Amino acid sequence: MSIATEATAPGFVRPEVTLRIGSTARATGSGTHHHINPATGLADAAVPMASAADVDEAVCNSHEAFSVWKATPAAHRGRALLKLADLVEGHTGEFAALATADNGTPAGTAQLMVGAAVEWIRYYAGWADKLPLGRVTSVAGAGGSFGHTLRQPYGVIGIVITWNAPLMSLAMKVPAALAAGNTVVAKPSELTPFSAMLFADLIREAGIPDGVFNVVTGGADAGSALVAHPLVKKVSFTGGPETARKITAECALTFKPVLLELGGKSANLVFADADLEAAALHAAFMAFGMMTGQGCALPTRLLVQESVYEQFAARVAEIASSFTVGSPLQLDTVCGPVINQGAIDRIEAMVAQARNDGARVLTGGARLGGELAEGYYYPPTVVADVDRQSQLARQEVFGPVLAILPFSDEADAVALANSTDYGLSGYVWTSDAKRAMRIVEALETGEVVVNGAPNAVAERPFGGIGHSGNGNEGGVEGLEEFFWTKSVAYSAN
Ligand code: NAD
Repeated sequence: MSIATEATAPGFVRPEVTLRIGSTARATGSGTHHHINPATGLADAAVPMASAADVDEAVCNSHEAFSVWKATPAAHRGRALLKLADLVEGHTGEFAALATADNGTPAGTAQLMVGAAVEWIRYYAGWADKLPLGRVTSVAGAGGSFGHTLRQPYGVIGIVITWNAPLMSLAMKVPAALAAGNTVVAKPSELTPFSAMLFADLIREAGIPDGVFNVVTGGADAGSALVAHPLVKKVSFTGGPETARKITAECALTFKPVLLELGGKSANLVFADADLEAAALHAAFMAFGMMTGQGCALPTRLLVQESVYEQFAARVAEIASSFTVGSPLQLDTVCGPVINQGAIDRIEAMVAQARNDGARVLTGGARLGGELAEGYYYPPTVVADVDRQSQLARQEVFGPVLAILPFSDEADAVALANSTDYGLSGYVWTSDAKRAMRIVEALETGEVVVNGAPNAVAERPFGGIGHSGNGNEGGVEGLEEFFWTKSVAYSAN
């Protein structure tokens, strides 16, 4: 396959994709994957596929570095992570360009996401020397003994991530793991290899010792070798449920702990008493303007109270149809391409099925042609009257398709919202504070966002239940994922 050489951003030099093991960077593996630019459909880089031997080498390096890193004073670890945050911030333009090259994230969104990643790194840098103290039991309270708990880092953490937000996924996992004193071997998706290269460069520049953070590029084989490696003491995974099942089964063999951040079909409940214009803008932007609908926590199921259903659905469709779809390099682009032909096929099949099930496509609904024909462009697609039992009401699309369903009252809305296997995020719009509190408690999701508050911020835990996974990133909960707890007692007699 020929490699296209088109520039992806003015003055931007895309890094060579290499394995980063200890102090080495090398472009060899057990084969090569050709990265396809979703905006053009052209192969534009060679991604080395790490072999099991490469993964072993990376894990052994990381294991060796663990003895150094865990003994590094916590304040020094924190300062290095603060420096990393500054470096990432200083490279915002480069990371944004890499995101557009990685997966077609529109440049404007990409810049915002770099800012969010910086906040996550800073947040966990701050925790490094302020780790929560262990519980202490007194002599009198514990039958003549003095006891406390000791939180200890696991060792090598195996990180496997998906393609939709390569820098953000690293920022949500790596700083917390390193702040706690662990080391990391990360495997980015073979579909999005670039951001991890610059991230690894900056980790070195921040003074974090070689081997503390390693990257193995590759696909399922590399991920599977990493997860199974006996020196990997915990796995943190972001991706789909099918892969999560395989990883969980592998980890079960040795009872290895595993954190799973999976998909979602998050409901957005809009009551008639809400600020409907604000809710419509939020609904459309979150469904389409955030990574072109390719986000796990996005509100992709819009549930609207019957009395305002028609007017609200029409307004959301109107806003969605005004979004600019096009090259991710243009700052005014709201929706870029989806990741690949497979995504186009899945989206087309789900929209066709919804039509067969009697749903109404209010806007979008067909792949874009013309000058966008070579890339993987699908427009914002708003589908109303979606049947409650249908595929579109229950399954994740992971693309720019918003399903709208009516509900009658609060009980109906909650039952409908809770009627999927997923449990990642929930959104509610109402001006009734008491109703908001009832719904916050009733939704079976890892987070609930009321009236358009920001979600997935560093200081609050983010994670799902059910088919959305288990464990947390963010907050002190996200830090605690990277410790095991030892109980210690001293005889006082
Ligand atoms: P995927 O599960 O196919 O791939 C994810 C990663 O796992 C990739 O790096 C892949 O190479 C690797 N992998 C594949 N098979 C493996 C195996 N057997 N062992 C180890 N690693 C393996 O997921 P995807 O299609 O790339 O991503 C889409 C999914 O990710 C969606 O369901 C989406 O909702 C979810 N997601 C979740 C979050 C979250 O934080 N909850 C964020 C983004 C995406």
